[in-house]
Amino acid sequence: MNLVFLGPPGSGKGTQAIRLAEKVGLVHLSTGDVLRAAVKVGTELGKKAEGFMTRGELVPDDLIICLIEEKVASGDLKSGFILDGFPRTMPQAESLTDMFTKNKIGLDKAILLDVGDAEILKRLKGRAEIEGRADDTEDVIKNRLEVYRKQTQPIEDYYRGQSILVAIEGEGTPDAIFERILKVAG
Ligand code: ADP
Repeated sequence: MNLVFLGPPGSGKGTQAIRLAEKVGLVHLSTGDVLRAAVKVGTELGKKAEGFMTRGELVPDDLIICLIEEKVASGDLKSGFILDGFPRTMPQAESLTDMFTKNKIGLDKAILLDVGDAEILKRLKGRAEIEGRADDTEDVIKNRLEVYRKQTQPIEDYYRGQSILVAIEGEGTPDAIFERILKVAG
């Protein structure tokens, strides 16, 4: 099974994607995690990405598409995967479709975790206090939400058009949300 997880920052997609990957045996690939690790170690990619990330902007498409191309070429995703945080722009979504076509990979579902802005702001402010992530300050959070609505939300329609979008109510307890996801992807 090959899945893409979509949802605004703070929608819980990372948490749920990890849980589902473990339960059904899929590779979990989070572009946010890969980028944060690259920044920490100080690789070329990390140096290029850091400024965009602290401002709550998206890292340029060419950098991130390159990263995903490497993963697809490595064969690591062969036995099923969950992409978390990619695609995030229409050019990324279209390149992903091309990569999949070339490598004969089928995308089964795009799972959207639907959460309203008020709930998102509340959750991210809570996470900022606990984890101290550099991009969880109030202004940056608002910017990330705006970026999501403008640049990422159009992807929902793109996958809806391919009849693979599944929207899941993303408010409630983590367990309740996981149950909803298992019903469509378990
Ligand atoms: P969140 O979903 O909470 O915003 P992520 O961990 O998915 O957090 O991403 C953190 C940051 O990493 C983003 O704000 C962005 O700067 C960068 N990033 C992650 N994935 C992508 C992507 N596909 N394209 C561009 N930038 C990305």
